[in-house]
Amino acid sequence: MEKRVHIAVVPGPGFSHLVPILQFSKRLLQLHPNFHVTCLIPSLGSPSTASKSILEALPPNIESIFLEPVKPEDLPQRVAIETQIQFTVTLSLPSIHQSLKNITSNTPFVALVADSFAFEALDFAEEFNLLSYIYFPSAATTLSWYLYALKLDKETSCEYRDLPEPVKIPGCVPIHGRDLNNQAQDRSSQVYKLFLQRAQRFCSVDGIFINTFFEMETGPMRALKEEGRGYPQVFSVGPIVQTGDDAKGLECLTWLDKQEDGSVLYVSFGSGGTLTQEQVNELAYGLELSDHKFLWVVREPSSLAFDAYLRAQKSVDPLHFLPEGFLERTKEKGMVIPSWAPQVEVLAHSSVGGFLTHCGWNSILESVVHGVPLITWPLFAEQRMNAVVLSEGLKVGVRPRVSENGLVERVEIVKVIKCLMEEEEGREMRKRMKELKEDAANAIKEDGSSTKTLSELVLKWESLV
Ligand code: UDP
Repeated sequence: MEKRVHIAVVPGPGFSHLVPILQFSKRLLQLHPNFHVTCLIPSLGSPSTASKSILEALPPNIESIFLEPVKPEDLPQRVAIETQIQFTVTLSLPSIHQSLKNITSNTPFVALVADSFAFEALDFAEEFNLLSYIYFPSAATTLSWYLYALKLDKETSCEYRDLPEPVKIPGCVPIHGRDLNNQAQDRSSQVYKLFLQRAQRFCSVDGIFINTFFEMETGPMRALKEEGRGYPQVFSVGPIVQTGDDAKGLECLTWLDKQEDGSVLYVSFGSGGTLTQEQVNELAYGLELSDHKFLWVVREPSSLAFDAYLRAQKSVDPLHFLPEGFLERTKEKGMVIPSWAPQVEVLAHSSVGGFLTHCGWNSILESVVHGVPLITWPLFAEQRMNAVVLSEGLKVGVRPRVSENGLVERVEIVKVIKCLMEEEEGREMRKRMKELKEDAANAIKEDGSSTKTLSELVLKWESLV
């Protein structure tokens, strides 16, 4: 009988850090059923309903252990979202250590895989004789920036956003300093120091898994693998996305069934992205004026772009914040859903012809897997970088212009919707997205680039048991 291979994984706090590492675990099990994964879950306050329902549906070979939740009042107040995420892990380290001790006491584990924000857990790898890996749930371009930032930090004295030329990260599409991740926008900040510290730690792991595929990010993947840079081994194992097959009969899907093929624009800002009240108004008028069909996941407005990211949703009805009469005027054209949609099922629906997205990496991969071209509207984290990759690099999306007042105005919204849904430029993006969809499907076939990469590594782990 084949020996069982045990590994432990530590997600970062928040739905979109939990889901990718669980999907990765499922992918391992799919390729190698003799795997057993133990997932140690840090959280800030109690986990969201969406996270809980994902955990309830796990296969028996994935075991989840909830760590003592960190109390929000124990975190420093008013710090960046990335700092909150990372400090939640820092405060969970004693329980991560204890859990590792418990689970490895009778069973030999071979590897510890931590989300990029949970990298501190890897400090325990040596003590428990485990190989250490990062699971990086973002683009290879973003990983390349993390590693390149270590060099650029030493060579640059000004803020990156004040550099006259775009930053040329090896193998990547040039990115203007102002489009780099939020953490790199203020070099004197704590969040920037933590970012560099994280990047530094990445250099000493046994490997980094990236949820991307070679054909989508050939340039950065080649550069990351080039010898002489001193980078750790990187493995592109994606696209690993949720399959989503349990939402049949929901009202929005029934509504989509009645629409023409490719006619609907799906609008969503991820698991926790929020807009200001003014921006909600502009978006509402833009959708209305565009005269296109839309399915919009509406969230309560906030002045913080990531307000709903780590906190459970409030009970206020977000539809109250839409402009007066909007719902009545658009009832033939659109549908709005409060707070949460079955996104994967929506993107898989043939009526959906475009996705206005905040450019979270999971949303992007889900759109690629289903061949849906994009309107790229980044909000926070590394989303502006993703927007550049998609609109300027791969040319599968159009990016709206932000006005001097910080708003994407209704006229601009109408312009990008028409560009994507009606014009030649949009047709070209659609065509390129269909090609990318094929590449994505090929990458995870039996002989595909991502499957081969992962299988080779798994063989190595098996040999260690
Ligand atoms: N998601 C969903 N329904 C929603 C909003 C988000 O199912 O209404 C899922 C989406 O499918 C994706 C994840 O939440 O898997 C969002 O991850 P992403 O990386 O795009 O953005 P983040 O939430 O990290 O900002």
